Amino acid sequence: MTAPHSPQGFSTRAIHVGQDPDPVTGAVMPPVVLSTTYAQNAPGETKAGYDYTRAGNPNRDALEAVLASLEGGARAICFGSGCAAMTALFQTLRPGDHVVASEDVYGGTYRILEQVMAPMGVETTWMDFTQVTPGNTDALEAALRPNTKIVLIETPSNPLLKLVDIAAVASVTKARGIVLAADNTFATPYLQRPLDLGVDVVVHSVTKYLNGHSDVLGGALVVKDPELGEKLHFIQKAIGAVPSPMDCYTVARGLKTLAVRMERHCSTTASLAQWLQQHPKITHVNYPGLQSHPQHALAQQQMQSPRGTPLAGGMVSFVVDGGTPAVTRVLQAVRVFTLAESLGGVESLICHPATMTHATIPKEVRQANGISDGLIRASVGLEDLQDLQTDLDLALNA
Ligand SMILES: *Cc1c(COP(=O)(O)O)cnc(C)c1O
Repeated sequence: MTAPHSPQGFSTRAIHVGQDPDPVTGAVMPPVVLSTTYAQNAPGETKAGYDYTRAGNPNRDALEAVLASLEGGARAICFGSGCAAMTALFQTLRPGDHVVASEDVYGGTYRILEQVMAPMGVETTWMDFTQVTPGNTDALEAALRPNTKIVLIETPSNPLLKLVDIAAVASVTKARGIVLAADNTFATPYLQRPLDLGVDVVVHSVTKYLNGHSDVLGGALVVKDPELGEKLHFIQKAIGAVPSPMDCYTVARGLKTLAVRMERHCSTTASLAQWLQQHPKITHVNYPGLQSHPQHALAQQQMQSPRGTPLAGGMVSFVVDGGTPAVTRVLQAVRVFTLAESLGGVESLICHPATMTHATIPKEVRQANGISDGLIRASVGLEDLQDLQTDLDLALNA
């Protein structure tokens, strides 16, 4: 593509950045370069900067370019999974370093910090970041230590859809020179651009909305600071947790429709959440787009489309009366929703956090954190609203 006219819109960048027609054949969709090695002109003199695929690959470069653009970063670094991306970020730490992390981060992130990083001498303090507001950052200040190197937040959280005020947290970490990382998997850059709010590293499980079709496992880190980008790029190459060229191609294809997918995910989920709230079998609905959500005002301001429309995402959770037996009945009766873990695909998925995604958390801890046995989590896909609503209604009355 020739130089863009001006800062281009989100969808234009999602479709074109890093994805010019192939200069050799004119192919509009880039070829997938599967070769692991590259012929050189002379020893150490490459033809186009590529020598070995762990160090670099055209499909990975294309994906990294478009992801960096969508998040408003200088650089993206892609990995073979969200957990690999998270681990690469923690590889910047040294024994004796300290992390402060959100107590309801993704379970895999909790496991990396407690079972991989802790034995290597990196300690984590877990805290409730919903307490941190622009007017009161005391809880965070109290958790920080002189050796705190990373603060990690995730918003909205899973499965309760709690929010963290990103700018309020960033005001503290910036003043102390601590790296602030935000897992943006649930919101995606279409709804939330953490780097603009003062975050240093955006973490993604590309597996979810960014790819969007439940057929690739991938992860990414996106940064504004080129020096931090270089450090993470070195770790990517050195530890080798890289995504395959085919997976990079597939994710780049998925990203082209991210904007239209997110619009539809959000509108269908907003309607379903409203409807669920009125349903006689349901005692509570968690959705940041509902006025009943305790952080609805923050959601309106922090989660917006690139054109400034408040949008609250495609994830909703709700409580049915009757605990695990009632939930089991509902989840076995659904026909359009699929009973499965994961999220962010075109198809609607539904799960029971207490026995599935959050089963490894001890029951007392789970319940203290608000994850009751009656809680159901749904990833609302792109099917027709009416069919999803009918499906849930029939299942709730089964
Ligand atoms: C799935 C997920 C991860 C982990 O990503 P993988 O691609 O499964 O390794 C991290 N954070 C969040 C919020 C997730 O949903």
